[in-house]
Amino acid sequence: MCSTSLRATLRVVNWRGACLTIQGCNPTRRTIATNRPQILICPQDLIVSLRSIEVPSMLPESSIQKFRESHRGQTLRPGDPDYDAARTVPNAMINRRPALIARCSGAADVLACVRFACEHDLLVSVRGGGHSIAGKAVCDDGLMVDLSTMKGIRVDPARQTVRAQTGLKLGEFDRETQAFGLATTQGVVPTVGMAGLTLGGGWGHLHGKYGLAIDNVISADVVTADGRLLTANATENPDLFWGVRGGSGNFGIVTSLEFRLHQLSAVFGGAVFYPAAQAKEVLHFWREFAAGSPDELVTQGGSFNLPDGVPVFGIAGCYCGPISDGEKVLKPLRTFGSPLADAFGPLSYLQMQGMFEAFFPPGRQVYTKSNFLRSLSDEAIDVLTQYVAKSPSPYTFAPFLEHWHGAATRVPVSDTAFPHRQYSWNFLAWSMWLDASESEKNKKWTRECWEAMRSFLVSSSYGNYVTDESEAIARENYGANYDRLVALKNKYDPTNFFRMNHNIKPTQAPTAASA
Ligand SMILES: Cc1cc2nc3c(=O)[nH]c(=O)nc-3n(C[C@H](O)[C@H](O)[C@H](O)COP(=O)(O)OP(=O)(O)OC[C@H]3O[C@@H](n4cnc5c(N)ncnc54)[C@H](O)[C@@H]3O)c2cc1C
Repeated sequence: MCSTSLRATLRVVNWRGACLTIQGCNPTRRTIATNRPQILICPQDLIVSLRSIEVPSMLPESSIQKFRESHRGQTLRPGDPDYDAARTVPNAMINRRPALIARCSGAADVLACVRFACEHDLLVSVRGGGHSIAGKAVCDDGLMVDLSTMKGIRVDPARQTVRAQTGLKLGEFDRETQAFGLATTQGVVPTVGMAGLTLGGGWGHLHGKYGLAIDNVISADVVTADGRLLTANATENPDLFWGVRGGSGNFGIVTSLEFRLHQLSAVFGGAVFYPAAQAKEVLHFWREFAAGSPDELVTQGGSFNLPDGVPVFGIAGCYCGPISDGEKVLKPLRTFGSPLADAFGPLSYLQMQGMFEAFFPPGRQVYTKSNFLRSLSDEAIDVLTQYVAKSPSPYTFAPFLEHWHGAATRVPVSDTAFPHRQYSWNFLAWSMWLDASESEKNKKWTRECWEAMRSFLVSSSYGNYVTDESEAIARENYGANYDRLVALKNKYDPTNFFRMNHNIKPTQAPTAASA
């Protein structure tokens, strides 16, 4: 097992002689005692500005070389040509600099990364698709285990299953399963990582009929903190199998996942857009309409701007049963009031899955707040309406609602680590803007919108949508399953080696350094 990191206060001298003090946990930094407080020496990467302090690794050069030689995938250090691209994640608010990035080519590389990080007491982050809004895929000064080149996938059309490596994005995953007319629940933006989404739960267009992404997982290969590759399924390590389905990356690095697939290639889907001023009536109508939705239909909607800047209240839907049934079921929604545009119709499943991609390009600043609603009461609708078309940024989706129902909500809370099976509406304030100078304004507005809704929200949140982190929020993420998850963490990761995630703190660890 790894020991915990050292916490140190260091004085850093840059090459112009300026001094600054940094505090943190980083056993990789080289400190040399002098007659002053500790001085950090940077022999190779001279510090050139206070905004980009380069802290060199204290890892012995020979160890790094040995690791690089034995690693089949690419390894990157500060200064290497691909280093900056590899550490960049879609949320532009995240700017972290790992000491080493290891692009893994398979489970053997992942095992080597875990052993190397243990040996040298390195903080580890794991990158799947890189879409964690809180930026958990990338760490400062530690080892970033980059799975994004692990894209192996094999569909078994006869068994209707797929085994997929965990560097795949949703769009890549869907493309392969669709080649056989098969699909399973994933999220609704194709650039998001299949693994990060699934390990946290995985809500999407098919959840009403087929459950969440985790409800379709049959088996997982997991590299644990003690450097073993374990299979987790209903018969092998069933406790770990329970934990990986909703426990985020807390129990290890998942190198591949096997899913159950379902026959599906076409859907009746799209969206209907109403003027923002009609939001209140639309919300009242949608509440009643959604309550009668068959499992085949999933809807979501809220306030946002069309690409030409027109503010709308839009509702998107996907019906995954027969097309003609979908047309009938969706007619009341499409004919209600006076929509600006009706973009529903028969679509291939891949078209449906790609519908939102253009709204979420990489490189925007992103901040989110989200909790489930107790109910979508008249009073909650009144408050939601006050915030429609009020965001300071034209790229924001807020207020926004997802309707959760059907198969995903019929799974008992204790069947998987994911506890949120009982709520019908998930509230989101998903703010996006271009310029870092506008961050405070946008974050403030997002919090205000969420605060205004607070009395209608339950203290339960879907971890995959959460930016702010704390132990209290982790308890909200894991709800009724939290204590069982802590016990599992104590068993599989008692030193909190895997902590760059929606973290479950073990209770047996010597106080582990926070990520
Ligand atoms: C634009 C956008 C759209 C989204 N749409 C949806 C949606 O429709 N439905 C939904 O449910 N969620 C959605 N999400 C939330 C999304 O599920 C989470 O942000 C998820 O964590 C992203 O996974 P990733 O692999 O891309 O991110 P990463 O940042 O790479 O990983 C996220 C977390 O999972 C851990 N992790 C990733 N891979 C592994 C692995 N193989 N083993 C162990 N740990 C791992 C990481 O360490 C990190 O803690 C969306 C997010 C964005 C930004």
